[in-house]
Amino acid sequence: MRAWRRGSPAAGLTFSRVSDPTSGDEYDQGAINETPVPPIRTCLGCRTRAAKAELLRVVARDGCGCPDPGAVLPGRGAYVHLDEACLMQASRRRAWARALRVPGLVDVSAVTEFLLQVGGSNEWEKDSRR
Ligand SMILES: [Zn+2]
Repeated sequence: MRAWRRGSPAAGLTFSRVSDPTSGDEYDQGAINETPVPPIRTCLGCRTRAAKAELLRVVARDGCGCPDPGAVLPGRGAYVHLDEACLMQASRRRAWARALRVPGLVDVSAVTEFLLQVGGSNEWEKDSRR
């Protein structure tokens, strides 16, 4: 049981209904009696909102994008699907610089490498948090 912010009126009211056609997951705000709604982040590439656990966190390190699958690195993070297309899209739009607050072009080759290693699967998400 994790601590869930109950005090703030804004918590849980930021979206009413999110459905993800790719995973079939659906979160209904009206049905959260016991289950907290998972945190939602926007993919930097395709701009689709998805559960934080489905996205890869990327942080800026020495001006480069660094994959942070465990979400343990400090600093400003951006989120992207484990999908090369999303990665390319974000790079093409130079969205990394804006999202990570890094001036100029951000080298995300480390993220690309990471993506190739995991092959687009969710195997890196070992500790089955939802
Ligand atoms: Zn995406």
